[in-house]
Amino acid sequence: MLEKNDGHYTFAYYDANGNKHYKAKKGYNTQEQAVEMARKLNLSPQTVHKYSAYKCSICHKWHVGKNKYKTITEEDREKIRKQIQLENFYKKKSYGKYSRIIEEIS
Ligand SMILES: [Zn+2]
Repeated sequence: MLEKNDGHYTFAYYDANGNKHYKAKKGYNTQEQAVEMARKLNLSPQTVHKYSAYKCSICHKWHVGKNKYKTITEEDREKIRKQIQLENFYKKKSYGKYSRIIEEIS
């Protein structure tokens, strides 16, 4: 039985004969989208294992995968929250600059 370890597939179901079936994982067009999903999953209280975004060598899109060897800690979640805060801060800051420039022009 071929194991799909290449990161493009995910387990789908067992058939009546007990064979594992796989399906293609959801593909994201950009790293940002995949990272956002991985963060969402990592911040969920139900999540035990850490998720990360990676580029797929088969479809060349981005996937979100679970690392079964890494357990997510409260420290990891705190890091993610800080990272999001920082990014939002810079997004707002540059947006503010942008709107000021528009005000000056108009
Ligand atoms: Zn893929």
